[in-house]
Amino acid sequence: MAAFQELALDPRLLRSIQHLGFTQPTEIQQEAIPAVMQGKDLIVSSKTGSGKTLAYLLPMMQRLLRSKPLSAQDPRALILAPTRELAQQIYAQLRLFVANTRLTPAFIVGGENFNDQEKLLKRQPHIIVATPGRLADHLEHKSFFLQGLEVLILDEADRMLDLGFMPQLNAIHKQASHRLRQTLMFSATLDHAEVNELALSLLRDPYRVALGAGY
Ligand code: ADP
Ligand code: MG
Repeated sequence: MAAFQELALDPRLLRSIQHLGFTQPTEIQQEAIPAVMQGKDLIVSSKTGSGKTLAYLLPMMQRLLRSKPLSAQDPRALILAPTRELAQQIYAQLRLFVANTRLTPAFIVGGENFNDQEKLLKRQPHIIVATPGRLADHLEHKSFFLQGLEVLILDEADRMLDLGFMPQLNAIHKQASHRLRQTLMFSATLDHAEVNELALSLLRDPYRVALGAGY
């Protein structure tokens, strides 16, 4: 299997990977990273523990580091996850990767003070990790806007849909859709009617990766 070095990632990202002690991408990372770096939309199903987080964090970061922002105010990337705990885990990984860069992250989940989050959003973070309910509340409240969003990532889409977040996901996508460059969707299974419905409405000619075995 190829090393991370062969994926043509920004040296700042490679440094963070080295810091984590990872040498080789997992199977899913090997498949997904080059496709996302080519600008494709993506739908991935693979089991828990196969390394999906870095499969989207790395190429998303690569895009933000290598391209000019579409907007000076709006976030450039948004990662949605079903629960606070999952969002927290993603945010912890993201922080390692932004540490070497000028990109700023924000964490926006339910159960925390709304006004504090609003202040955070007004500071114009580049990358947001959020749960869909609280993020949709902020959009409704006009705490911030998504017109400049470049990358939208739906992690554990099947669980978000099982929790009833279809309306919020659609509202978020609708506001972001003007200039959105890429949408990446992850699910434990593609054998899920609502996941397929969402994929059909959000993704453009997606690259599909379905892996049975984990890493
Ligand atoms: P998934 O989202 O598919 O369940 P995660 O992204 O949470 O998987 O990764 C599972 C575990 O594997 C995490 O502890 C993560 O740090 C580790 N991991 C991810 N990529 C690699 C890699 N290339 N080499 C070694 N460990 C990795
Ligand atoms: Mg995951």
